[in-house]
Amino acid sequence: MTIAGSSKTVYGPVRSWRAGVSLGVDLLALNSICSFRCVYCQLGKINRHTTARKVYVATERVMTDLLRSSWRIADIITLSGSGEPTLAANMGEVIRQTKTLTNKPVLVLTNGTTLNDAAVRRELCEADKIYCKLDAADAETFRRINRPVEGITLQAVINGIKALKREFTGELAIQLMLTPASLKQAEQFARILNEIKPDEVQLNLPYRPIPREWFIDARGNNDTLPVPANHFTTITTEEAARFEAALRHLTGLKVSSAHRIRSD
Ligand code: SF4
Repeated sequence: MTIAGSSKTVYGPVRSWRAGVSLGVDLLALNSICSFRCVYCQLGKINRHTTARKVYVATERVMTDLLRSSWRIADIITLSGSGEPTLAANMGEVIRQTKTLTNKPVLVLTNGTTLNDAAVRRELCEADKIYCKLDAADAETFRRINRPVEGITLQAVINGIKALKREFTGELAIQLMLTPASLKQAEQFARILNEIKPDEVQLNLPYRPIPREWFIDARGNNDTLPVPANHFTTITTEEAARFEAALRHLTGLKVSSAHRIRSD
């Protein structure tokens, strides 16, 4: 099996504002593969826009890369990488083997599009933490910002997150990428978040460069890239702070903000 770019399914570790020193595990490293094509995606271009769940990279390959990595210095092992990790049918197996091998907590970053599948939820329940994306509070913004595979609706994603919340005993955070559209939707977001009741809401700004084509080394925390890249026009930190205050007031939930940590 040929793996493109830096040819590793394990990358980093990188410092994550939410999780500490995080070692990335990429179960999709053959290509960029996702059920979304978010306008701000740091991978640049999603080449395979799909909901197909299958083994993209063999578990043995991932575990070999993990063994050869600097996993000992990581606080946490994060399944993320070149797209949506829950599309990998060996995700549960990799979570189990990673925990056995490293005895470190495992975090999964997901866009939530597969959570209506009970098998996916069962596998995710083996993780310690799940951070789930929710960037839109109405169907039109969802289509415009996340650009999902045809047939995926915002309501279905919300229903899947609620089902996961009922079954998952670990830490579930909702990650919200702030865009100009979000600013007008604090009340709608609050209504949805009050139904989900996550352990935390994490607000982020799309500050990372967007390569013009898929670039595997854009995984991780990069402020600059060695390839041509664009930036997504976003909102100011003052606007983000106002949204954060409104959300906290309307939900009473724990709300963390990347912009606050980056400006500290
Ligand atoms: S869900 Fe993540 S990987 Fe998929 S398009 Fe959006 S930002 Fe990129």
